[in-house]
Amino acid sequence: MKAVCVYCGSSPGANPIYTEAAQAFGRALVASNLALVYGGGKVGLMGVIADTVMAGGGRAIGVIPELLVDKEVGHVGLTELHVVPDMHHRKKMMADLSDAFVALPGGAGTLEELFEVYTWAQLGYHRKPVGVLNIGGFYDPLMALLDHTVREGFMRQTYRDMLQTDGDPVALIARLKRYHAPAKDKWADLRENV
Ligand code: AMP
Repeated sequence: MKAVCVYCGSSPGANPIYTEAAQAFGRALVASNLALVYGGGKVGLMGVIADTVMAGGGRAIGVIPELLVDKEVGHVGLTELHVVPDMHHRKKMMADLSDAFVALPGGAGTLEELFEVYTWAQLGYHRKPVGVLNIGGFYDPLMALLDHTVREGFMRQTYRDMLQTDGDPVALIARLKRYHAPAKDKWADLRENV
């Protein structure tokens, strides 16, 4: 594992624990010699984690669409900043550059990005680990909803278990390193039951 893609809020959140978590995750990446790949902005938790990685002597690679360079304040102090034509290019480049994906607390944008890479793992488009840093129980409601989808027969436990969750940055990175993708993708399982 060389680089981890981090999705997180373009806002700082209402509680300082979220900023502290972004700093702690940034420090954990640097300590593990892992580059940060992220959305390239300077706002919210995005800016916090990028600043922490750069201050710690690590590598931070930003990927930002032209339209958002001003809105999300494109970070000029990064190891690399790629300005791309649109959101689709951003998501593809972030995915291609990364060996694992992690969501920190965030809003709809963070959730959208998390669910894209999670569902792509489920479908077998990639075999990279996907995780959630569950600081202060922020993601407990989402985990409860995913467990509900399993109980109600819309997701198999195997795919629920693909999403790595931990409240501690170092422990989460260790989980990502240990991860092995399931042998079968979701469709192989479904075909067997047709
Ligand atoms: P948010 O969690 O809503 O604060 O957004 C965090 C990041 O997700 C920001 O950099 C947004 O530009 C990005 N984002 C918002 N919507 C999308 C989307 N549909 N696809 C990919 N990224 C998005």
